[in-house]
Amino acid sequence: MKLLVTGGAGYIGSVVSAQLLEAGHEVVVLDDLSTGHADAVPDGARLVRGTLRDTAAEVLGGAGFDAVLHFAAKSLVGESVEKPGLYWDKNLGESLALLDAMRVADVPRIVFSSTAATYGEPESTPILETDPTRPTNPYGASKLAIDTALAEYARLHGIGGVSLRYFNVAGAQGRQGERHTVETHLIPNVLKAADGGGRPLRIFGTDYPTPDGTCVRDYVHVTDLGNAHLLALDACAPGTHTIYNLGSGSGYSVLEVLEVCREVTGRDIPVETGPRRPGDPAVLVASSDRIRTELGWKPERDMRAMVSDAWTFLRSR
Ligand code: UDP
Repeated sequence: MKLLVTGGAGYIGSVVSAQLLEAGHEVVVLDDLSTGHADAVPDGARLVRGTLRDTAAEVLGGAGFDAVLHFAAKSLVGESVEKPGLYWDKNLGESLALLDAMRVADVPRIVFSSTAATYGEPESTPILETDPTRPTNPYGASKLAIDTALAEYARLHGIGGVSLRYFNVAGAQGRQGERHTVETHLIPNVLKAADGGGRPLRIFGTDYPTPDGTCVRDYVHVTDLGNAHLLALDACAPGTHTIYNLGSGSGYSVLEVLEVCREVTGRDIPVETGPRRPGDPAVLVASSDRIRTELGWKPERDMRAMVSDAWTFLRSR
């Protein structure tokens, strides 16, 4: 298939681009390089630098694309609280420009990177796709609005759409890994502390109602997550929008992740405890029964593999 990957210079987009090329697809990456890196785009993919608003219509027009995989987004919860307008504009506004460019160019399918943040504070776990969506920050709210727009474009314009709601993504795949200028994620921060960057890992809150007092999250290896995109691409059905959670179904606390990092790196990792980070729910664990049953997806890499691949990636740079 001929595929447009928005945000293909970012962490997850670059991993999935590599997998799509490996599977024999033609890949064009559209990325404004605001947070992505040109050298993360895998060999064999063509990189177009530009925003969706300015460039999507031009790239898609008359070019015979079969589908779009839409990763391009702003994705920092804290930043979204400080600058909600930026998140509505970049995430929702630019996605609407993309959807309309698809409609005009007759591109029939889209796989979209949605998020667990659309659910907000869960009433019960594991979280089902049918659970209420009450995002607690502009990041989650903007992604939920895109899910809604996708459902409408499917119903009214016949596009086939799949939204994949990511829980916590970790690990690396060869030379594609996490390279955020502002790193907020747990595993890269723990590994930086293990690498002797000078700063201890700060644990955000030890008084949560969980077995060891730290937050519990559902981690998926980026390669397993990527595999779900290839399955979703095949499953896009005209006029239909489907949502799938992507998690492993089991949770790790911050302290449990730290322990695996200590084992994998063999290092003594300095930590300090701090207050809770605003907006962090105590437990976020996905039910991934729907995607397992309907698409046959199964995560195959455990926490050890995620940490080990992320550590190899960090050490290679
Ligand atoms: N966390 C932490 N220290 C850090 C980064 C994260 O204690 O430097 C905690 C955070 O409070 C959350 C968990 O680790 O409970 C996972 O956070 P991350 O930012 O990786 O993902 P999120 O679940 O927020 O999407």
